Amino acid sequence: MAALKIKDIIINTIIFDFDGTLAKLNIDFKQMRDTVLKLISSYGIERNYLQTDFVLEMINTSREILSKSSPQKAEIFTNKAIKIIEAMEIEAAIHGELFSQTKELFTRLKLSGISTGVITRNCEKAIKIVFPDISSYCEAVVCRDTVKNVKPHPEHLNKTLQMLNSLAENTLMIGDHPLDIQTGRNAGTCTAGVLTGHFSKSDFLNAGADFVLPQAVDILDLVTL
Ligand SMILES: [Mg+2]
Repeated sequence: MAALKIKDIIINTIIFDFDGTLAKLNIDFKQMRDTVLKLISSYGIERNYLQTDFVLEMINTSREILSKSSPQKAEIFTNKAIKIIEAMEIEAAIHGELFSQTKELFTRLKLSGISTGVITRNCEKAIKIVFPDISSYCEAVVCRDTVKNVKPHPEHLNKTLQMLNSLAENTLMIGDHPLDIQTGRNAGTCTAGVLTGHFSKSDFLNAGADFVLPQAVDILDLVTL
């Protein structure tokens, strides 16, 4: 029986981030943030009310502020904001690509009896452009569209574990952003960073990662047959 052990813990489930971990997408988050901030400011909300650099959280906070005076205005704003980010995500997806060994990674994990899931703050449309047959490789794909609180909130990961019938304590979360490590730690999984995004080994270790791999496919080297 194949096994993956991390610090004597048997891992039977691996949850991956998508962008930068399984695929290269090149979303310009700065441009996305600037465009959304322009929209937010056109609704009279000041930047210092937002207290975050993450676009989805900025949209949520702004929606909450607006809904106090007008739920209708809040809904119109949210639709506009989501349209802006979706257009940029889809554009990036059209020019993006899966890392060359991503399909092999899923195929070999399946053969080893390890369940797999993907959690992403990206939209489902974009994921399906880059990886149209993702569902035949990976048992649970949870994009931001189908979860109320996206990662690093543990709900995103916990929902995926429920779909897989897996336990956090036997799960490894792998991602290219310290936020992925935070997500795993919030949900109580083991965590690993990968260097295929914009962060270094020490960024991941500082975030509390159990270990760091050059790229996601390298996890296969730790699976013993
Ligand atoms: Mg990522």
